[in-house]
Amino acid sequence: MFKYTLVIHGGAGTILKTDMTDEKELAYHTALEDALTKGSEVLAKGGAAVDAVRAATVSLEDNILFNAGRGSVFGKDGSQEMDASIMDGKTTMAGAVSAVQHIRNPVELAYAIMTRSQHVMLNGKGAYDFAVLNGLKTEADEYFFSEFRHDQWIQMQGSDEAALDHNVIVKDKKFGTVGAVAVDMHGNIAAATSTGGMTNKQFGRVGDSPIIGAGTYANNKTCAISCTGHGEPFIRAVTAYDVSCLMEYKGLSLEQAMNIVVHDKLMKIDGEGGMIGVDAKGNAAMVFNSEGMYRGMRSSNGINEVKIYK
Ligand code: ASP
Repeated sequence: MFKYTLVIHGGAGTILKTDMTDEKELAYHTALEDALTKGSEVLAKGGAAVDAVRAATVSLEDNILFNAGRGSVFGKDGSQEMDASIMDGKTTMAGAVSAVQHIRNPVELAYAIMTRSQHVMLNGKGAYDFAVLNGLKTEADEYFFSEFRHDQWIQMQGSDEAALDHNVIVKDKKFGTVGAVAVDMHGNIAAATSTGGMTNKQFGRVGDSPIIGAGTYANNKTCAISCTGHGEPFIRAVTAYDVSCLMEYKGLSLEQAMNIVVHDKLMKIDGEGGMIGVDAKGNAAMVFNSEGMYRGMRSSNGINEVKIYK
């Protein structure tokens, strides 16, 4: 009998086997396995989908390999500003944070905004103050620093093309955002997404990840979706909500809807990336139009997989 499913991603992009060492591949596999374990422990105990996606996302944020929390990318001015969001499909309550610094787990801040404020999205300094007031963990700059992301930023020095052309200038086109979607034993679903955004971003640029309906969406009636990819087209396509609309208004299945959005609608506007999704019946899918997407799925029916390439 079906009980629960958890799906996670660690970003999409030009992730090629030829660029990967065995050591690096193992590190990514282990990190994804760890996040699946953290989230499915919650689900196996009968916990809520929203708590499972938090647990899995925190695990990925804490891992320096991914562009979220620790290991976030650097903006043009050398700062690391993070975005995150969470949505509970049972209540359609949502929380989001954009351009925040020094918060150890931005997804926990998004959750606190959802559960402890009367707002959906807080930004920058105000979001930081709210976090401190609510006892969330903060860290100094050194905690977030990673050599690899710093090198990516150095490669972009002198370029004013900023975030969008990062993909062209930096050879390895990767979006290391993280996210999770889950369906729990009670038939409730939830989604969470967290990111450092895009390297060399400036002017307070915010991507799709903290935008409810673009990077994240959850509604028990339809689906829970977390996206990763080039944020601007994802915002314009209202990507996550579009999957929900295709299911609600056209009666498409989760996978059909995700395929149309990722392989047709996003492709038409150069929207490179992908998404993970579940519905309340326990269907799950991982769909992307890029070379690869760090991803994994674990369910009570014995599915347990972690994949990187196409
Ligand atoms: N979607 C994120 C953004 O545009 C990037 C990513 O998915 O890695 O900020």
